[in-house]
Amino acid sequence: MEKKNIDWSSLGFGYVQTDARYVSYYKNGAWDEGAITSDANIVLNECAGVLQYAQTVFEGLKAYTTEDGHIVTFRPDLNAERLEQSAKRLEIPVFPKDRFIDAVNKVVSANEAWVPPYGSGATLYIRPYIFGSNPVIGVKPAEEYQFRILCTPVGPYFKGGAKPITIKVSDFDRAAPRGTGNIKAGLNYAMSLHAIVTAHKEGFDENMYLDPATRSKVEETGGANFLFVTKDNKVVTPKSDSILPSITRRSLVYVAKEYLGLEVEEREVYFDEVKDFAEAGLCGTAAVISPVGKIVDHGKEICLPSGMSEMGPVTKKLYETLTGIQMGRIEAPEGWIHTIK
Ligand SMILES: *Cc1c(COP(=O)(O)O)cnc(C)c1O
Repeated sequence: MEKKNIDWSSLGFGYVQTDARYVSYYKNGAWDEGAITSDANIVLNECAGVLQYAQTVFEGLKAYTTEDGHIVTFRPDLNAERLEQSAKRLEIPVFPKDRFIDAVNKVVSANEAWVPPYGSGATLYIRPYIFGSNPVIGVKPAEEYQFRILCTPVGPYFKGGAKPITIKVSDFDRAAPRGTGNIKAGLNYAMSLHAIVTAHKEGFDENMYLDPATRSKVEETGGANFLFVTKDNKVVTPKSDSILPSITRRSLVYVAKEYLGLEVEEREVYFDEVKDFAEAGLCGTAAVISPVGKIVDHGKEICLPSGMSEMGPVTKKLYETLTGIQMGRIEAPEGWIHTIK
């Protein structure tokens, strides 16, 4: 298989149209058998449910080339399960887990030439999504849907080393108590756009959202969960019903306990405690962990002892162990690495 002629390491995180995508249509109460297609465009009625009432959920995962030349994905079963939870919350029909995994296999195989080689730092980002496609004007769930998966090659998240970022405590809320913060829905991102554009204008990289009910506890950022490290090397991660259950965060918690022998606390984290932590990081599929150096709350700066030039030592160990597992350099727990070919 000849790879595409792309300068993999200079790719950013943007959409590059590849050769193949997967689509399955839901009609009359059932998903059809699904197929790979080369057509990247979708023709929809002007009144489609997704366009009028944002009835759509999505997932994000990556395919990697491992050190020994296999193409693998990381825990796709958890993406399938989370998509199921997201779909149920928005009255979208569930796309079965075994079919989800089969569809990921098919679409990655069809795009094999677009899977970046080992060592390039680049990966193939995989975006499964479901949306209501038939006309809906009275507010109700659609009756027809499309489950699709697109792929796009993305460059190394950290070019020239992982530099710690500066984040602000947002004046906006991300997710209501008992709302939709715990599902992966486009609607959570639509409402975060104004907050992130505002943060960027003010010179910050990201927003820290607090719990809307009391504004005293740390929730997450727009698209990544928090991990903190205490001065005595305990890993602490916020627990809340309105946080999106990050697969990266859940995997890092396991790595911390089982590979690094660290103590881990998953609990409510008060913003008042943040000043006492030694390290902070954001975890998600895109970066695995992005180190945080500074947190600013209305002019009051919290400078983490790990500083602004490098990842903290525990964050770095977590990062290196998980990326080592993903790339096949470190033995993975049973079932984590799903080999496509
Ligand atoms: C996708 C997402 C994450 C990260 O989840 P991963 O499974 O680790 O990629 C975190 N927060 C939000 C709001 C997300 O949408």
